[in-house]
Amino acid sequence: MSNQNIVAIANQKGGVGKTTTAVNLAAALAQAGHSTILIDLDPQGNASTGLGIGTDQRRHTVYEVLTGEVDFLTAAVRTGVPNLQVVPSTSDLASADVELASFADRTRLLEKQLSGAPEGTIILIDCPPALGLLTVNAMVAANSVLVPLQAEFYALEGLSQLLGTVKQVRQGANPKLRINGVLLTMSDYRNNLSQQVEADARETLGDLVYPTVIPRNVRVSEAPSHAQPVLIYDPMSKGSVAYRQFCAEFMARLKLVPEIA
Ligand code: ADP
Ligand code: MG
Repeated sequence: MSNQNIVAIANQKGGVGKTTTAVNLAAALAQAGHSTILIDLDPQGNASTGLGIGTDQRRHTVYEVLTGEVDFLTAAVRTGVPNLQVVPSTSDLASADVELASFADRTRLLEKQLSGAPEGTIILIDCPPALGLLTVNAMVAANSVLVPLQAEFYALEGLSQLLGTVKQVRQGANPKLRINGVLLTMSDYRNNLSQQVEADARETLGDLVYPTVIPRNVRVSEAPSHAQPVLIYDPMSKGSVAYRQFCAEFMARLKLVPEIA
């Protein structure tokens, strides 16, 4: 049986909390005892940097994984968080859309690599802010898609385009693809707008929206410059508490139980 726990974290908007969610969900899963691999599929490499993997440590990158030059487990690097590895990206991924377009199986490059993923390992894919070939590769390889939604005006705009891409992938290369859920991020409870967006999202999307909402929290935004998930940088911050709570809900949706050490 193939690995059932491959989740793409996608939204074509930039700055909505994809990478922050990928890094902290991955760290929380690892802390709960699950062997976790985060695949950094964004040429900006923010997930790699945020987990403390400097460019000098990126001996192999996700680009070589896509082209089949190196196995993804070989490319994976250990992070400072036990149980958590990252497949780093570099800026050479920026031209992937063009360079990989000539491959006959261009939408299945990541899927092919992940077919050998160890069962029981949780694989999260941090997607770039576009619905191009990289995000499609992630959706073809994944079992489900987690959508971070910034609690701001226009948040729901663009969602139909994203869901349209999911539908296309489901009708084509990956019929088993599901929506894992929608996570509201960067919410400001002093701001009526955040509450309005949350109400709209829950009315439109129902139970797809996770009960936990991630608050805007300065510790969350400071953590990447310390090359750490906020869960490590400031475990008791509001952001950390929220990401741990979200992780528990995420594990329930994946029917995962915490591993007893
Ligand atoms: P994306 O990957 O979707 O482009 P990021 O996760 O990089 O988005 O987040 C965009 C910016 O917002 C980053 O500078 C990040 O540190 C900041 N950020 C994300 N979530 C929060 C939060 N809950 N509170 C404060 N800042 C946040
Ligand atoms: Mg990002």
